[in-house]
Amino acid sequence: MLTIDLHSLGDSFSTAVILRLLVVTPLVLLAFCINRWSDNHRLQTAASACATVSLVATTAIIGQLAPEPFASRYLMAGQFTIFAATVFAALPWRATQIMTFVSTAAYTLIVASALQFPPGMVNLDLVGSNILIAILALYVRWERGIQMNEILLMRRIDARRAAELRKANDRLSQLSSTDALTGTFNRRYLEIFSDSRSTSIVPSLSSGVLMIDVDHFKLFNDLGGHAEGDRCLQQVAAAIRSALRSPDDIVVRYGGEEFVVILPAADPSEALAVAERLRSAVSDLQIPHPGLGTGAVVTVSIGACAATPGENITDTIERADKLMYAAKKAGRNRISA
Ligand code: GH3
Ligand code: MG
Ligand code: MG
Repeated sequence: MLTIDLHSLGDSFSTAVILRLLVVTPLVLLAFCINRWSDNHRLQTAASACATVSLVATTAIIGQLAPEPFASRYLMAGQFTIFAATVFAALPWRATQIMTFVSTAAYTLIVASALQFPPGMVNLDLVGSNILIAILALYVRWERGIQMNEILLMRRIDARRAAELRKANDRLSQLSSTDALTGTFNRRYLEIFSDSRSTSIVPSLSSGVLMIDVDHFKLFNDLGGHAEGDRCLQQVAAAIRSALRSPDDIVVRYGGEEFVVILPAADPSEALAVAERLRSAVSDLQIPHPGLGTGAVVTVSIGACAATPGENITDTIERADKLMYAAKKAGRNRISA
């Protein structure tokens, strides 16, 4: 701006330097700093509005000092500043109104008086056009405000809907991978789990796999009733969970009274230790078995093995299943590894 002033102002150049460097620049820098580092919105708004008013007033004053044909260009630049600041400065509506009014009043005072007392009452055409431009700018800013509010509202609704959808999806995927009776994972989850394993690029570490089957459960159901059987399964599932090493160990309800436990990164001896802990956790529940005579309690038979690196988890489960049947044959309430 000073470069333009130097070419167009002649003798009044020093006044322009003083106005620009000692009034406008400090106010603009102050507004910039406050907007950058303060959280006080009122202060930010006030600083921005003051900087704008100072710029408009300075441009109008310099316009008064400039000879023609530059004078009218400065005065038009002042009008443009008011229009642009009103429409584009992101100030609140009330602050925008005040800023536009004060800028227009300052412009009118300077331009109409021609900086003389008594006022020269000149350039009234420019004063008139400036008032019209200010009104037009306020109208545009008002419309823009309505649109911005609508967009904001729509964005808020969108965000809320997206959050609800996310929550519903999470709940759905949780439901679709959970067994309703026992709260353990279901077969579907196991399928997804084994698929993700077989497509893994990194060869998996060996995992312990346990196949657990409740002993003589048909008899339990037949004599104790189905509802009692359901309660028993829930207790067994809770006992299995309580005997695991960490939440990373996975319990799946594999069939009616069969559970599969996957122990990530467990060697055979660790898998065997968990299996033993788990077997005694179930018998320690001391759930009376109605079909096996007095003193008999619900027990489980377990097949335990370790997946070799690279082996598909489904194949390991098959091996654990065979081992479980061996445990049944050997007398139940025991582990076959
Ligand atoms: P084994 O010791 O050889 O495993 O004998 P078992 O009687 O436990 O084995 P079998 O496979 O003959 O019977 C399993 C029974 O589990 C059959 C069914 O009545 C019962 N069962 C399966 N699912 C459920 C269920 O969701 N709730 C209840 N209460 N019982 C179930
Ligand atoms: Mg069975
Ligand atoms: Mg059974």
